[in-house]
Amino acid sequence: MSVPIADFRSDTSTLPTEAMRRAMATAEVGDDVRGEDPTVRRLEQEAAALLGKPAALFLPSGTMANQAAIHVHCRPGDELICEDRSHVYLFEGGGIARLSGTQVRLLAAPGGFPTPAQVEGAVRSDDPHHPRSRLLVLENTHNMAGGRVANVATMSALAAAARRHGLAVHVDGARLLNAAVALGCPARDLVASADSVSLCLSKGLGAPVGSMLAGSTDFVAQARRVRKAFGGGMRQAGVIAAAGLLALRDGPALLAHDHDRAQRLARGLAELPFLAVDPAVVDSNIVMADLRAGEPDQLQAHLQRCGVLAAGAGPRRLRFVLHRDVDDAMVQRCLDACRTFVPAASPTPSPS
Ligand SMILES: *Cc1c(COP(=O)(O)O)cnc(C)c1O
Repeated sequence: MSVPIADFRSDTSTLPTEAMRRAMATAEVGDDVRGEDPTVRRLEQEAAALLGKPAALFLPSGTMANQAAIHVHCRPGDELICEDRSHVYLFEGGGIARLSGTQVRLLAAPGGFPTPAQVEGAVRSDDPHHPRSRLLVLENTHNMAGGRVANVATMSALAAAARRHGLAVHVDGARLLNAAVALGCPARDLVASADSVSLCLSKGLGAPVGSMLAGSTDFVAQARRVRKAFGGGMRQAGVIAAAGLLALRDGPALLAHDHDRAQRLARGLAELPFLAVDPAVVDSNIVMADLRAGEPDQLQAHLQRCGVLAAGAGPRRLRFVLHRDVDDAMVQRCLDACRTFVPAASPTPSPS
């Protein structure tokens, strides 16, 4: 049998466990659009409790969870504020404009989290020329900033800044449990100051499909209508919710291993002269590596020949994501592969 590929491209590549497959096969189900699926209901209750909100909703993807939240919070012509590498802005197919007719005000923040002063400075004054500032979106952990984590103090200071001006706050918590584990604090504390929060079951937590969106009872009732309108009403969804329940219950305890391995990988990569990697900014399960020499696609191809997959995350940047299907041996394989990479000399100028 060949050695399995070490897939560092994303924590979305986690495969359902045997226990998940068994739970899926035997799940008690009903028509969830009618609210009759007991497994989905249980998942929504457990997610609401974990996130410290009165209610939660099960959706097919994190993208739909974020876009449904934005659709509930914002009207066409409104403006939302977010950091300029936010997933909701970069990677959701233009959904903010397409689905909610809402425009975006971007804030630059190298660590992924703007300051409260930046947020307040971006809020529009009450003037007929202006769009209405309506929503602040925070991403914790912050994917493109390299899995950076914001603690409770940072989250509540940002939420307070938004609230002083009447804005609502949504947390894109695709990897909120990674943040909670990294900080050693309950996930609900991180979003206590937010109106809504999304959470991916299908990343490091290991479910094959699905995300949660939590908030007040009224917010979730409105999001349920939006989910239907966006085509996300699923019938016997208990089949996938059953795996989601195991992800929610058993997944968080495994995340600390991913964070340890990310540290080990980052420290190993930082020793290589052709890479710029800073282990001090590896807060969770994501390692960003910038190439000082050679081309990222050459390194990617070299890694692939060694049975290692990494993703591009910028013109000279590769992203390595740790998750439950990457073990210590795979981290070692990745480091060994990187050590044998010979960056091609920069092309010599052709004689003219
Ligand atoms: C993955 C991700 C999402 C949503 O992803 P889906 O693939 O649609 O489930 C949202 N936000 C962040 C930060 C993510 O990393």
